[in-house]
Amino acid sequence: MNYPEEETVQLTHGAGGRAMGELLEKHVLNTFTRKSAGEIGLDQLDDGATIDLPGEGTLVLTTDSHVVNPLFFPGGDIGKLAVCGTVNDLAVMGADPIALTSSIIVEEGFPIPELRRVMGSMEESSAESGVPIITGDTKVLEKGDMDGLAINTAGIGLAEESISDAGMNPGDRVILTGTIGDHGMALMQYREGLSFRTELKSDIAPLNDLLKRASEAGDITAMKDPTRGGIAAALNEMAQKSDLGLSIKEELVPVREAVSGIAELIGISPYEVANEGKAIITAGEETAREVVESLQSHPLGRDARIIGEVNRERPGRVIMETEIGGRRFLEAPLGDPVPRIC
Ligand code: MG
Repeated sequence: MNYPEEETVQLTHGAGGRAMGELLEKHVLNTFTRKSAGEIGLDQLDDGATIDLPGEGTLVLTTDSHVVNPLFFPGGDIGKLAVCGTVNDLAVMGADPIALTSSIIVEEGFPIPELRRVMGSMEESSAESGVPIITGDTKVLEKGDMDGLAINTAGIGLAEESISDAGMNPGDRVILTGTIGDHGMALMQYREGLSFRTELKSDIAPLNDLLKRASEAGDITAMKDPTRGGIAAALNEMAQKSDLGLSIKEELVPVREAVSGIAELIGISPYEVANEGKAIITAGEETAREVVESLQSHPLGRDARIIGEVNRERPGRVIMETEIGGRRFLEAPLGDPVPRIC
């Protein structure tokens, strides 16, 4: 059967931006009638969902499919991404990850040495984060029915009290744990076949240890990992969900020279591309400094800093204050400018 294009799924629908939000809203979320097992369920579209365990805390459950292209990129590969992506979604929910699943779909003819390399990366990241992979599934599709390899990982974690991406309060400080755009731009320079190559690598890393330390240091009210759609998508989502405004000082947002160089060359904002080893954190004014100091004392948080604050000025919107005193809205991108980034 032939459908007109507007009745078919497009790449932007999977890109983490406004188009994806609409697809989920209209065609996915409405379909299901039983959508939660605790405080945070499907409708909240948070990094994971919660299940209350009376007397024990809160169980957090999350799942993520990884389809990155190319499978191997500067700083990592699909295996590292599959483990770190899910560990990080648990960590930003305030949970200690307990275990992961690994579901692999592979195309007939895929080289076994490459599969072994990917499995080796999963093992390395599992060891680095301290999270075991305890069950899985493997399917093989006929040649041409898919592109190489896709990995789904689900994860469970336990939180004393979960942290949502919607919990910020007016006056809270907005903290970023490091430079933005490294993952997206590292893949872009690889994919676009740019004539020059920088030393830029993906920032992909497991954040569970870093974020645990941070949450012990202060009063964290919300967390999110700015993956698809970059910090532009994540900050807007946090502002909309809490119905509060964010003002961000542009000069405080750390961007590597290589990232701004590639961004300028290809005309894509580093604010709109994926990060795989960063978190956005909001913390009460009194303890935000302590949170930043604890982040900075960890190798994955050396460039952490306060980049702005939460207010009631423009509920649901993100305002960028530029170095020369200008103010503009930072909009959520329609979709990630780079498909198959994670
Ligand atoms: Mg996430």
